[in-house]
Amino acid sequence: MLVENLIKNLELLKNAGVEFIPCSYEESNNDTENLESLRKNLGNCKKCKLSTTRTNIVFGEGNPKADLMFIGEGPGKNEDLQGRPFVGAAGQLLTKIINAMHLTREDVYIANIVKCRPPNNRDPEHDEIKACIPYLLKQIEIIKPKVICTLGRISTKVLLNTEDKITRIRGKIFDYNGIDLIPTYHPAHLLHHPDNKRLVWEDMQLIMKILKLK
Ligand code: URA
Ligand code: SF4
Repeated sequence: MLVENLIKNLELLKNAGVEFIPCSYEESNNDTENLESLRKNLGNCKKCKLSTTRTNIVFGEGNPKADLMFIGEGPGKNEDLQGRPFVGAAGQLLTKIINAMHLTREDVYIANIVKCRPPNNRDPEHDEIKACIPYLLKQIEIIKPKVICTLGRISTKVLLNTEDKITRIRGKIFDYNGIDLIPTYHPAHLLHHPDNKRLVWEDMQLIMKILKLK
């Protein structure tokens, strides 16, 4: 009886144009397993055209219970070849920045807006971001960081839904679904503009203060 009523109600909703019912996703204590099952679900993803040119999917890596998440734009050449985020020249600089905060890459979680390399490192396109972003949002939901640091224009724009210039909004604290989000310059930018390293360090000190890191 109960089931029959439920089915009837669901059919009513469906006929009224409701496509899905949001329901809270099952809580589990095993965050690693959740990230692993998300990776499994991703499989050999072909949801966007980047799948035709990539070598490896770059899922993201780090501590499944990280307090701090760094989010870049998309894999570059080295990342595509190794299947790991931020391992090229910009990645080495990011690693140095993390170490300067008295943390290691294993303490934080590092991911990107799109998980496959855009050809010739072009900006990811709207359809590619739209196809890939649900995976990153799920990662954030599983990891539940206290702070998200967006690296550069693209990840800041996507997560904050803003067109504001990174120069104007870096180092400020934004609210992303209850998580403190602090945009800063992309490490690749710092390779060409080393003078801005000072500003990035200011932003990292703000993050350290929020996380009560010494
Ligand atoms: N740049 C990014 O935005 N992400 C990477 O993983 C590497 C370089
Ligand atoms: Fe799938 Fe994302 Fe890769 Fe596109 S970029 S193929 S959505 S994993």
